[in-house]
Amino acid sequence: MSRPATTARPAEAGPGPDPAAVASFDLRGRVSLVTGGNGGIGLGIAEALAAAGADVVILGTNERKNAAAQQAVAAHGGRVLALRCDVGDEAQVIDAFEQAVGAFGRIDSCFANAGIGGEPMRFTDLTLDQWHHVLRINLDGVFLTFRTAARHLVAAGAGGSLVAVSSIIGTNRGFARTQAYGTAKAALSGLVRSCAVELGRDGIRVNAILPGYIRTALADDLLDDEKFAARSLPRLLGRRWGTPADLGGIAVYLASEASRYQTGEQIVVDGGYILS
Ligand code: NDP
Repeated sequence: MSRPATTARPAEAGPGPDPAAVASFDLRGRVSLVTGGNGGIGLGIAEALAAAGADVVILGTNERKNAAAQQAVAAHGGRVLALRCDVGDEAQVIDAFEQAVGAFGRIDSCFANAGIGGEPMRFTDLTLDQWHHVLRINLDGVFLTFRTAARHLVAAGAGGSLVAVSSIIGTNRGFARTQAYGTAKAALSGLVRSCAVELGRDGIRVNAILPGYIRTALADDLLDDEKFAARSLPRLLGRRWGTPADLGGIAVYLASEASRYQTGEQIVVDGGYILS
């Protein structure tokens, strides 16, 4: 005897996808700010956020890159504002957030992504000026961005999400000729965890994304090094370098309600590099 046709799910298949869970990735009506959103990983993040429905604010120092990125992100729909801002300059950061909130009325998530690699050099040759130059953007810049964003989020009283773009160098690893960069990224772990503890009472989540090797202007020289590529590519998922778009999914997750119970985390997105 054949079984009667039915649309009911078999019990062993479980309840199926929860429509509310899927909807929780929707960023329509939300505003995200991305420092360094005019290129590389920041642009990948900004495009993904816009594609998920967010209005996006991009901060960068280069007006030409800002204008091009504004166009690229706007192509996904939603409103886009690109502002010139040096994240190492306190007054500029405060002013940029005021302009952003003035234009869009709110900020829900903030990605402190802007960063530089610094010139690779032997530790014994590293000057104090070079050390400070990297820390000013990669550490002070994240502090100023987080603090300014937190002030707006706490005042608005609706919670929110702060995300630092760190690096796998911020895990328990060491890399030669990158002491200033590595110090800044390791320090971000402390900043993220401490902020997560304190800002939890305001409903503000604070997490870090730790990318591996992503094809951008910052990483081009290293990834084009044949010896490095021969050693590294066989360790990577799909045997390829990451792309800025590979960071889009985690960014949408962290900006959205889908991550509402996750804070203080260091989320590695490196194609498996640190596993072996
Ligand atoms: P890119 O060089 O492609 O982009 C860097 C971005 O930062 C640009 O948008 C740049 O804009 C902005 N920026 C630099 N200085 C400042 C400043 N003083 N004020 C405001 N914006 C600034 O690099 P990536 O996309 O690769 O790097 C983005 C982040 O990802 C960095 O924090 C980096 O450390 C991290 N990362 C990158 C990895 C990789 O393999 N690519 C790996 C791990 C981490 P503008 O030129 O207009 O100033």
